[in-house]
Amino acid sequence: MSVTLQRIERLSSRVVRVLGCNPGPMTLQGTNTYLVGTGSRRILIDTGEPSIPEYISCLKQALAEFNTAIQEIIVTHWHVDHSGGIKDICKNIENETTYCIKKLPRNPHRKEIIGNGEQQYVYLKDGDVIKTEGATLRVIYTPGHTDDHMALLLEEENALFSGDCILGEGTTIFEDLYDYMNSLKELLKIKANIIYPGHGPVIPNAEATILQYISHRNKREEQILTLVRDNFEKAFTVTDLVKIIYKNIPENLHKMAERNVLLHLKKLEKEGKIFSNTDPNKKWRAAL
Ligand SMILES: [Zn+2]
Repeated sequence: MSVTLQRIERLSSRVVRVLGCNPGPMTLQGTNTYLVGTGSRRILIDTGEPSIPEYISCLKQALAEFNTAIQEIIVTHWHVDHSGGIKDICKNIENETTYCIKKLPRNPHRKEIIGNGEQQYVYLKDGDVIKTEGATLRVIYTPGHTDDHMALLLEEENALFSGDCILGEGTTIFEDLYDYMNSLKELLKIKANIIYPGHGPVIPNAEATILQYISHRNKREEQILTLVRDNFEKAFTVTDLVKIIYKNIPENLHKMAERNVLLHLKKLEKEGKIFSNTDPNKKWRAAL
């Protein structure tokens, strides 16, 4: 069973987690936002959802408890449960200067508006380093969950802020599986010790967890590829494949499974292992 997380918790000498107070099926116990650093101004990673006054008071309380203010805000990706709280923070938490809010640009580029447009993002790029007293964060571009997703390496602890790329519990969803798998491989190369995920508890064994995520997806992919190859004379629709592969799960969950299988098919097609026709009722077969 899942552990209950405290609303404000000091996780290390330089990391404090403040829960977004937005629990739900997609957010587990809510979004994790993190105050990082040791000084009188610290970096805030992610901001939770809009219009959650409880979160704003928790964040205020954490800032007071640790006698600090926000140096700048970094959001791991555009999803509303990570970027949605920016406006409320800017409006309700006083700061010496205007807040500087950083993220990676959308890819392909598209205009992003914060709140009513009174603030703009400062765009980072892969490899950028952001410093504050006691902490150095390196940006790692990890697309797949979204096209603008970043993880951050906290160098002093060899710890990863993984956003939604790796979660504290269960598996995550993604937009592009090909990119997502590459991002997991990039994260594995870092050889981080621990992971501070975007949702759920701290992950103490970074490498094992990333490997688990990779093998979970690989198993599913292997299943699809084997099926298509063993029946190379046939072409399959996504629905055909789901009926075979997910025969043990209730039919009302097949729509979600279809989405997953389709992402696998697109990845396999990108890799040249299968191909599809252009019919409205798209069918896939093995490339021989
Ligand atoms: Zn997300």
